[in-house]
Amino acid sequence: MSILSVKNIKKSYSINEKEEEKVLDGINLDVHDGEFLALLGPSGCGKSTLLNIISGLDTDYEGEVLYKGMSLKFLNDHELTDFRKNNIGFVFQNFNLISHMSVLENVMIPMYLNGKSHSENKTKALELLDSVDLKKYADKNVKNLSGGQKQRVAIARALTNNPELIIADEPTGSLDSKSQNRILEILEGLTQQGKTVIVVTHNEEITERVDTVVKLRDGKIVEVEQKSDRSFTEPKIPKKIRKNRFNFISMLKIAFSNFMQRKWRNVMISIATSIGLTGILLSLGLGNGIVKIIEQDMEGGKIPSQIQISLNNQQSSGIINKNDLTYIKNKVGQEKIKYFETPFGMRMIEVEVEDVGNADYTDTTPNYSQVVSLYDNTSIKVPSNTKDSILAGKEYQDPKEEGITLTESFLKDFNKMNKKNLTAESIIGKKLKGVIVESTSEGEKTGTFSTKIIRIVKDETEEENSYMAPVEMNQIITRNKFEKNIPYFILELKEPSENKQVMEQINSNKKYVAISQTAVVDIIINFIKIIQGLLIFMSTQAVIVSIVMIGIVMYINVIERTREIGVMKAIGYRNRDINMIFTSESAFITLLSLLLATLFASFIGFGINEIVAMKAKEISSVFMLDIVAVGGTVILAIVMSLFSASVPIMKVGKLDPATSLRYE
Ligand code: ADP
Ligand code: MG
Repeated sequence: MSILSVKNIKKSYSINEKEEEKVLDGINLDVHDGEFLALLGPSGCGKSTLLNIISGLDTDYEGEVLYKGMSLKFLNDHELTDFRKNNIGFVFQNFNLISHMSVLENVMIPMYLNGKSHSENKTKALELLDSVDLKKYADKNVKNLSGGQKQRVAIARALTNNPELIIADEPTGSLDSKSQNRILEILEGLTQQGKTVIVVTHNEEITERVDTVVKLRDGKIVEVEQKSDRSFTEPKIPKKIRKNRFNFISMLKIAFSNFMQRKWRNVMISIATSIGLTGILLSLGLGNGIVKIIEQDMEGGKIPSQIQISLNNQQSSGIINKNDLTYIKNKVGQEKIKYFETPFGMRMIEVEVEDVGNADYTDTTPNYSQVVSLYDNTSIKVPSNTKDSILAGKEYQDPKEEGITLTESFLKDFNKMNKKNLTAESIIGKKLKGVIVESTSEGEKTGTFSTKIIRIVKDETEEENSYMAPVEMNQIITRNKFEKNIPYFILELKEPSENKQVMEQINSNKKYVAISQTAVVDIIINFIKIIQGLLIFMSTQAVIVSIVMIGIVMYINVIERTREIGVMKAIGYRNRDINMIFTSESAFITLLSLLLATLFASFIGFGINEIVAMKAKEISSVFMLDIVAVGGTVILAIVMSLFSASVPIMKVGKLDPATSLRYE
């Protein structure tokens, strides 16, 4: 039995829809185990086509190729690839080395699939390089070698998986005679080790030294010349086909080498991509930071979480009273209420400060002309018991205290009206007489009161009222026979998070209006989130453009590497293996852009933090990156690289090795 048996092979290429060019026209050939066979013929007669069919690179033919009696027709794509990897070593006329890799790496490429350790493979590769006298060139880049040296690297590569059959297509075609000789010696040496060598050549010297010369012309074998009278033995049983096991680290190495070959292009694309990602990270970081600040303020009590309930003026006339109080208490549920205060008020129309002057508020009604009772519960935060809002006087601690709390703007206006320049401190303790008025159903009622000024508070909101402790104010109202006029209720829930729901409950009765600053804060937070979403959306568009861009670049990459892919497929790489390389390369690009984006975003974000910290000490940080933000962006990047790689992957699958190798 022959190692290789070719039976009536026919092959034609279609030139156009109607015409076909017959390249091989009934080839029959037997190659023995250990035979050194030369294939001769003019250019274009079909030698390369025949070699491609023999080696399983080309599957589109009529007839049969039997390898040790087994027809290649029975093997599917994967099996054919594995068959090549285990049994056949290729040597091409134009070397087909991978130009951006070193001599050693080129030899090792087929080894990355054998599942053995790197050091074991390296030792073997160096041995092989030694056998072609190139050991000392191992770390050199193949670009810097002469043609003869390159071909010896290619031979070493062809021998890595210890193949039984060496197929060399014009291996000496572009070499000087000295190098030709050296290659011939090596091939001859291989046959002496028992390997079978098929060589296409025009070299006279080779034809003198082979066992058999086969002459091909116009797709037919025209002569078979037996040069030696060696007898050949039966071929050994077929090697067991080993499964591909692509070493992950080696795969990353190839991908990285590919990445570095076009490093500037890849870096530029990474920078472009990082712009969109930076936008996303910044929007997330800034939005989160600002929302966090607001939430901290709310929890820290800086933003009151009270609900203020008043009558809806459009729905009802009249005043809020005890019935409203019980109604609301029941509606909300006593058990949910932390405190429920009913401040009451009176309006001053004239004020006289002893020894200083007076003011008239009949026509103007500034906010401070309204005197509102402080709460029985002195722990409820109001400007009167908040240290930093008191300009002069002591904090409110006793619901029985005597005296009135006035505001900064009262003092300012009062000074102006009386052409005085009193400070807050100097007015404390002075006697104040006031005329008060109340509108009731029976018309206007007027009364008077007298007390002393005990406190001046800052105008935090411009809408600050004047205040008095509830006990004293109650006495004034009773003495003047006023009705106790309640302007609004103040309600605080044990669970401020229920504010929204309780407010909806109260507002569902059109008689009342419930408002709370937390509701305003909610609106602000929602607004920030909408803006944030919008920014993320816009940045995402930039990212989508980048995905397309990376996809295009990867596609160009595949086109540029068509030959390289052809070589890799020829020496045993499956589509899946090559796809992994391209996916990794696109992952490198996205990873780099992710890294750059994190750097840019941190630089800008933390820069903003520094600036804000300089201007406003109490604000902690407006830019904050959390796990969710970073994690989300990383996932986005992963999806990106998969998407971008999917374009070249489709192309890789379509490249057939025989055509790719012819690609210029
Ligand atoms: P050789 O190696 O003997 O020089 P080839 O086997 O490369 O010849 O080519 C044989 C013939 O087949 C040539 O005429 C060539 O133009 C043609 N040929 C080779 N590959 C293709 C192809 N992919 N499509 C069309 N024609 C092809
Ligand atoms: Mg050829």
